[in-house]
Amino acid sequence: MIPIPTDAQGMKLYLIKLGEISLKGLNRSFFEKKLKNNIKLKIHPHKSLLLREKGRFYLYVDDTCPDEIVEKTLKTTFGITGFSRAMVCGKAWEDIISTTNKIISIPPFVEGNLSQNAILAYDSPATCKYRTFKVEARRADKSFPKTSYQIEAELGGVVLERIPSLKVDVKRPDITLNVEVRENVYIYSSPIPGPGGLPVGCAGRGLLLLSGGIDSPVAGYRMARRGLKQECLYFHAYPYTSDMALQKVQDLAKIISPYMMGTTLHVVNFTEAELWIKNHSKEEENTLMMRACMMQVANRIAKNIDAEAIVTGEALGQVASQTLQAMAFTNSMSSLPVLRPLVGMDKEEIIETARRIGTYETSILPYDDCCVIFSPKHPLVRPDSETERNAFNDMNIDEVLDKCVSKVKTYEISYKTGISSL
Ligand code: ATP
Ligand code: MG
Repeated sequence: MIPIPTDAQGMKLYLIKLGEISLKGLNRSFFEKKLKNNIKLKIHPHKSLLLREKGRFYLYVDDTCPDEIVEKTLKTTFGITGFSRAMVCGKAWEDIISTTNKIISIPPFVEGNLSQNAILAYDSPATCKYRTFKVEARRADKSFPKTSYQIEAELGGVVLERIPSLKVDVKRPDITLNVEVRENVYIYSSPIPGPGGLPVGCAGRGLLLLSGGIDSPVAGYRMARRGLKQECLYFHAYPYTSDMALQKVQDLAKIISPYMMGTTLHVVNFTEAELWIKNHSKEEENTLMMRACMMQVANRIAKNIDAEAIVTGEALGQVASQTLQAMAFTNSMSSLPVLRPLVGMDKEEIIETARRIGTYETSILPYDDCCVIFSPKHPLVRPDSETERNAFNDMNIDEVLDKCVSKVKTYEISYKTGISSL
């Protein structure tokens, strides 16, 4: 049982639902520790306290921490399937009624975001965006003098008095007010969805090839959702690609950084390699040779940062370099596994995710990527891996690539970027 912590005075409470983590067996505590740590890091420097019971977390946050920081934290931290602002009180009936009145006076019960900190004055009429509701009571403490049904009926009356526009619907309510009678009484409304997945940092490290396009930020988001910690690598071909293109990639990295628990952006100047490829390979092979070089550079950088996989935004059949044969060739140029989380996704689905995570508008800004500028009119679509590997070796580009790696520039991007800039 969770007692109210003595130092929880002046703290707000959130109940957090854990998804896949609660299905874990013996190593569950490893995943939970990671998640706790990730939440605390994001809330810091505000004080927080996290307790766990029965597959959920009780998060107490210092009252001075703005609601939007907590909300953004919980919406961007993988491992969380949902969260509710909750209130806790003793078991005296008048306490339960006054706490019910408080919780139905804040979002999501009333119009607005959870972020609207103010609890509305009791005598101002509340406007609710929902049409129907129900109260659901659970009595872990069987000695409590009212039955679940009585609690539901009486507190339902409290809700109706305060928000007369609502109607009761016990089968499919728009919103539910949960009341749990345990050692204390916890009152909370339907959870706001979290991002799901597994906590970042529990599935090793990867290197995301981040271009300025729509796909690769979504690929990074998807792998972070499976717990992969990632650094990013961008191939810049200045002056063929402008500083605006680099700025765009930095902006994208900032947008996805809260999901990734922060990241490091490595920027490689790829111009010399691009020109070398153009002068030392057949035009129809240019794209393949460029992808081969990217893989080689990515492998070297991955080794330097202890990453165990390369992540790309490729999807089967999307462009000429994303056929099975082309992917087989790029795979053969990488000694680390190449993860392609979007491989089976339609562009429409990828765009939908990009919009949801907030990268789409930045991705469609019109600054060309190096691939576009140097791509041939008629690229090879079904390359033979061995032939292309020979073509790659014939280019003798190793030294140029070494130089690229030695001149890499790095930018640290904090997970706070997307959170505190609200
Ligand atoms: P995106 O929308 O991610 O740019 P795309 O459809 O334009 O993808 P390609 O240009 O073939 O496809 O690139 C495929 C993948 O290769 C990208 O998703 C990304 O992971 C990587 N990539 C391409 N260009 C770059 C670059 N300049 N820097 C880093 N990675 C890149
Ligand atoms: Mg691209």
